[in-house]
Amino acid sequence: MNDASGTKPAQNSSVWKAVFERAANAIVVVSLETGQVIEWNQATLALFGYTAEQVAGMRLVELQPAIRTQREALRRQLAEAGSLFIDSFPLRRADGSEIQVAIHAVRTSYDGQEAFLAMLQDAAQARDLQTRLATQAMQLRAELTSQADEYLHLKEFFENVIDALPLRLLVLDEDLRIIHANPAYYLQRGVTREQIIGQSVRDVFPKELLDEAGLERALQGTLTTGERVWWSGFREQSVGHPERIINIRIDPCRGLEGRACLLISIEDVSERYRQIYERTLLQEVSQAMLSTLDLPRLLHAILTGMTAGGAVGLGFNRAILMLVDNAAGVLKAEMAVGPEDVHQAHTIWSEVTGRYRTLQDFLQDYDRLPPPQDRPLADLVERLVVPLSDVEHLPMSALVSGNTVYVPDARNDARVNSEFATVMDSDEFVVAPLRVGETQIGVAIADNFITHKMIKGSDTHLLTSLANQAALAVERAQLFREAQERAEELARAYEELKAAEQDRLRNERLATVGTVTAAVTHEIRNPLSTIGGFARAILRDPHDTERNRRSAKIIVEEADRLEELLRTVLDFSRPEGVNVQRTRIEPIVESVLELTAEQRERAGIDLSWEAEPDLPELDLDANQIRQVLLNLVKNADEAMPNGGLLALTARLAGNAVALAVSDTGSGIPQGDLSFVFDTFFTTKPTGTGLGLALARKILDAHGARIEVSSLPSQGTTFTVYFPIPPA
Ligand code: ADP
Ligand code: MG
Repeated sequence: MNDASGTKPAQNSSVWKAVFERAANAIVVVSLETGQVIEWNQATLALFGYTAEQVAGMRLVELQPAIRTQREALRRQLAEAGSLFIDSFPLRRADGSEIQVAIHAVRTSYDGQEAFLAMLQDAAQARDLQTRLATQAMQLRAELTSQADEYLHLKEFFENVIDALPLRLLVLDEDLRIIHANPAYYLQRGVTREQIIGQSVRDVFPKELLDEAGLERALQGTLTTGERVWWSGFREQSVGHPERIINIRIDPCRGLEGRACLLISIEDVSERYRQIYERTLLQEVSQAMLSTLDLPRLLHAILTGMTAGGAVGLGFNRAILMLVDNAAGVLKAEMAVGPEDVHQAHTIWSEVTGRYRTLQDFLQDYDRLPPPQDRPLADLVERLVVPLSDVEHLPMSALVSGNTVYVPDARNDARVNSEFATVMDSDEFVVAPLRVGETQIGVAIADNFITHKMIKGSDTHLLTSLANQAALAVERAQLFREAQERAEELARAYEELKAAEQDRLRNERLATVGTVTAAVTHEIRNPLSTIGGFARAILRDPHDTERNRRSAKIIVEEADRLEELLRTVLDFSRPEGVNVQRTRIEPIVESVLELTAEQRERAGIDLSWEAEPDLPELDLDANQIRQVLLNLVKNADEAMPNGGLLALTARLAGNAVALAVSDTGSGIPQGDLSFVFDTFFTTKPTGTGLGLALARKILDAHGARIEVSSLPSQGTTFTVYFPIPPA
């Protein structure tokens, strides 16, 4: 290295020097004026085989004499382009041999003189290197291209994804200007991407969202804090569009050059909200419907559910309920709800939706509203009647098929009964059947008569669900009403029956009195005429004592008979009413047997009397029961005029004490068995036919029961079952 290094102006000359010295390539600085080599490095010496002393002050022509001819051209090129490249230039080495050298030269100034700095390289090596570099570069380029392709694909893919997202996406810069929008966003707004890019949020979002709801504040907040913001359930109203419910999310993001930006995602959740709303609505309506059994009230609830908008109902303009009237053979409008004109519509809807949050609330107030018959559409209800037989046309066809039918253009629809269409006076409507299983209840018809809002599939769907609920409720109410009517009918019938029964009893009593009178008259006439006859005989000849004694005896006997007749009649007609006491039955039986012993002795009748030991005491009116037993024993004795056996037993029979009176007498013919307890049934010439009737009457009053069994010419058994009273 020569001493000239000390004169170099570079401040970091030592660094420079080191780099220059150690560079792998030969580097020389040559004065353009003199052609002298001013600076060189170790690699230069190595390339040419000179020593430093030999090179110092050497001129370029010494390395290549031919350069003289090219000098001007090279100098010009350097002057104009500032650099030149010669890929192969012959230079002479120290040993006289020549090597091809590649030269990169740039113009420079050195110590105030024009110079050039040249990097010299063995051309063969340089070429070699160059091809190596070239292949490497090619490989690199290929790699880069494929990576770039991949990147482009990915980019396109993600762009497509973003474009296809149902989410509305916006990217804002720091000034809240839109720098990106996806089609979901701009198409929904009805503009092009170009129209929306560059706009400020102030231009695209409504004021109430930006200011009142605080969206702008939230955006600024996310820009500064980097925090994510999430809003749900925002109501978006825009002219000409139905109200939508949206969720908004703000995410921080990084844009080009790492600039802060915002990603706004807007999700339309109206449909989800609507579904939830519909479910709640259905629940509410069905609850309301099930809470009333009063049919008119119920119908009104259903129709209100179908018409009232807002939170209360389905939001149809008009709803009509037609019910099947099987007796009249028609499907007939029962009730309709809805306005008759736009003005009325407004009043009604605002009244219902403004005041009542739920249908339940509305129904609670129902009684204070004008009664349904004062409501509008009375005329329509009056006229809307179709025969049940018209199953080919609406509305009957819907009821018969059980399917909801949507009619978009009634006047040109063959399915619609033309009279029905005329009365409805509406082009577009829905008919939903009300059925419970196979039972046809009626139909619900709904339309948007006033607003002409198109009926959507979801409306039809909801109406169907509501109609199904309504069918159940209406059936329930109808059944209830029928049951009520039947109950009232039964109550009426019962009253009538009671009156008739009283009449019958009175008549029967009168009849009985008549029969008794006749019987008594008949019974009395014979003894009385006998008494009269014999008494007159005595009067005629009072001295014939023997005859008179006989006559007197007959008179006394006849008088006795009359007395007994009188007593029986009196017993029978004595008002019922028992005077019971807890008592044993055996002594009563025995007293009766004692009373009647004489007659048996006369007729030659044997007696047997057996009572099971320890029979429980019974609740008896002793006098009346004695009367009963007397009648039974007397009848038995009378059935055995030529002797026989009277057998009495008392025993336990379940929860009763059974007392049986048996005889071996004439028996009762089968045909008479059912009459023996009837009043005045007698087969005896001097009988009254009251004994058994009286016995039955008394036993009834005791809650006791009497049975008879008999075999003609073998004998008869009467058994009385006395209930055992509780201990
Ligand atoms: P009466 O004894 O005055 O005829 P009752 O009412 O006591 O009236 O009896 C009605 C009828 O029942 C009797 O006339 C008789 O035909 C029949 N009857 C009752 N008890 C017996 C009996 N033990 N054996 C045969 N017939 C009897
Ligand atoms: Mg009798």
